[in-house]
Amino acid sequence: MISRAAELLRESRNPVVFSGAGMSRESGMRTFRGEEGLWKEYSPEQLSSLSGLRSDPEVVWEWYKMRLITGDGIVPHAGYKALTFLQKKKGTLPVITQNVDGLHKLSGQTDVLEIHGSMRTASCLDRCGFFTELNPESLQDLPPLCPDCGAILRPDIVLFGEPLPHQVISRSYKLAEECDLMMVIGTSVQVWPAAGVPFAALENGATVIEINPARTELPQGENVISIRGKAGEILPALVDMEENK
Ligand SMILES: [Zn+2]
Repeated sequence: MISRAAELLRESRNPVVFSGAGMSRESGMRTFRGEEGLWKEYSPEQLSSLSGLRSDPEVVWEWYKMRLITGDGIVPHAGYKALTFLQKKKGTLPVITQNVDGLHKLSGQTDVLEIHGSMRTASCLDRCGFFTELNPESLQDLPPLCPDCGAILRPDIVLFGEPLPHQVISRSYKLAEECDLMMVIGTSVQVWPAAGVPFAALENGATVIEINPARTELPQGENVISIRGKAGEILPALVDMEENK
């Protein structure tokens, strides 16, 4: 299966990557479900909602600060490095990701479409236009406030009940329509509406290479090459094979 995938990758003129949580988890990114802390009595849904942010901004920000601190210690695994290498070699390889941890960008990849936003930046909740990079040092006092208007800041991730960012999602669908190959990595393709992107690629005649330890929701057919395993192991092997063919 890997050699077939390597062949497809080598022949592809418009490959696109679509990644999900499994990609991050392999690098040790945690979800903090049930962890001790100020947030322990809150559900992830409350912590990821606009109403939660408005009613308990300190608690919600404590949670994001912890995620950010942990995220800062995360080293992207070999699969990310393989993708960065591939992107440079191919000249074009847009990366559509459901992950908010910024690991694709941290690995040196460009043209990354974060369809659920990023936890590494924040902006003014009252939309005055203020926007800032986030790091643990900038979150000494919680909740962080907008220096321009005094409103609280919000993490730039798509919160529960919010629509996906229009421009990012519309370009993702455009890429799905135009690509000849989509690599679907570390996702079971279950979270909608994001999951619609690989389905759109298939409907438009692209071949899909899925790299995931477990079976995904994608139909199993001749246009879907399934490689069961970890991205951190499969991607370097795949790139190596593509390189040396
Ligand atoms: Zn403001």
